[in-house]
Amino acid sequence: MITSKLPNVGTTIFTVMSQLAAQTGAINLSQGFPDFDGPQALRDAVGRHIADGHNQYSPMTGLPALRQQVAAKIARSYGKQVDADGEVTITPGATQAIFCAIQTVIHPGDEVIVFDPCYDSYEPSVELAGGRCVHVQLGLNDFAIDWQKLADAITPRTRMIILNSPHNPSGALITRAELDQLAALIANRDIYLISDEVYEHLVFDGVKHASVLAHEELYQRAFVVSSFGKTYHVTGWKTGYVVAPPALTAELRKIHQYVSFCGVTPLQYALADFMAEHPEHVEELPAFYQAKRDLFCDLLEPSNFSFERVGGTYFQLVDYSKIRPDLNDVDMSLWMTREHGVATIPISVFYQEPPHGQRLVRLCFAKREDTLRQAAEKLCMIKRYA
Ligand code: PMP
Ligand code: GLN
Repeated sequence: MITSKLPNVGTTIFTVMSQLAAQTGAINLSQGFPDFDGPQALRDAVGRHIADGHNQYSPMTGLPALRQQVAAKIARSYGKQVDADGEVTITPGATQAIFCAIQTVIHPGDEVIVFDPCYDSYEPSVELAGGRCVHVQLGLNDFAIDWQKLADAITPRTRMIILNSPHNPSGALITRAELDQLAALIANRDIYLISDEVYEHLVFDGVKHASVLAHEELYQRAFVVSSFGKTYHVTGWKTGYVVAPPALTAELRKIHQYVSFCGVTPLQYALADFMAEHPEHVEELPAFYQAKRDLFCDLLEPSNFSFERVGGTYFQLVDYSKIRPDLNDVDMSLWMTREHGVATIPISVFYQEPPHGQRLVRLCFAKREDTLRQAAEKLCMIKRYA
């Protein structure tokens, strides 16, 4: 019998719920991905580059033209100059970047602080490095960092803290003042950061994303991760990047070169072309997704779900206490999928200890208008608890 390296890990909730949606024919608002295509020019560029023979390995660090576009975007968005050669690495997906950053820093016995609810790839990656996650719960309603809890969780073994803003699944945002507070808290400690900013361009209501890239003190100890999948509506391309100071990047690349060596070549060419030709794409993204959030939330107003509009990401949490307070969120998600034809993600699976009595499920609004209308119609028909 093989001895499992991840004895407590099952199949991820995203696979479970997407499969159930497919089996039952439910509208899939569970796993986060758009049900519309990325820009035509971007898709055309892939075909062009495949036809032009860009089909062999790219450089291990990523296509130079794409790394330069990433650096240019960072300069425009955050006023930060990064060296495309020494600080930007293209990876096959943000998940791989996070995995490599964890392997770069974490030695057996090290502790990594994660904030619950936390994205499900972090903990297995830490465990495979021989480390241990210390879970700090975010605020129950605002999903903000509890500074006392964070300070209490830091020990001499703490080697890393993983931030995620805009936050999946809550949509909460970390502020610049909070980044300052974090910098003060860890100033004299040997602690590194991963800043998972895959939803960096999905920030609404005129708010500016507080990136670790724009925080020099934190950046010096950080791996900042993003995903072309979210920004260009192509999650299936599994192409992302990690930005880190040169010394950290050099160590990360030692690992990245033996995990995957490089990302997919024609996709990198296409992304580089598109980014050069359409720098406005990222500027238009907040309004594009805010319109979807607002349409969906307006349609849900008459429903029996309660919610506050999210500040970022393409997920909306909704509270179902008025509908089925008797069900935990996993059972609620199953019930909604099977009985009401809308698949959702329960958020308790992102906690080490789910808060007692929390009644929240996550809905993905990265969908066409007709999908959102059909889903909202079904959601509005779910009756109040008698
Ligand atoms: N981090 C978070 C918070 C995410 O939601 C996702 C998207 N699934 C990822 C990382 C991974 O991104 P990618 O698909 O590029 O691996
Ligand atoms: N990040 C996506 C979500 O939160 C899913 C990614 C995946 O399926 N691994 O839904």
